[in-house]
Amino acid sequence: MSKAHRGTGIRNEAMHGRGKCPRCGNENVKVLYEKEIDGNNVKICKFCNAQLKNIARKEARAGKAAAAAAAATEAPAEA
Ligand SMILES: [Zn+2]
Repeated sequence: MSKAHRGTGIRNEAMHGRGKCPRCGNENVKVLYEKEIDGNNVKICKFCNAQLKNIARKEARAGKAAAAAAAATEAPAEA
């Protein structure tokens, strides 16, 4: 199996996967990562992919913390 984001894996892509990233606006970067942004599927560079991943991870963590806090405040009321 070839690597999905380098070498043979991107030979069939237009410009070998290089282009302008719609998110950060960098030109001539490899835009190989499909992400859904505002409802439409776009291809972004690996830096934006990592950023979105980190944002999602932080949000998931914040959501979990909020849920835990809500549970903590509810618990004494029940007891
Ligand atoms: Zn980008």
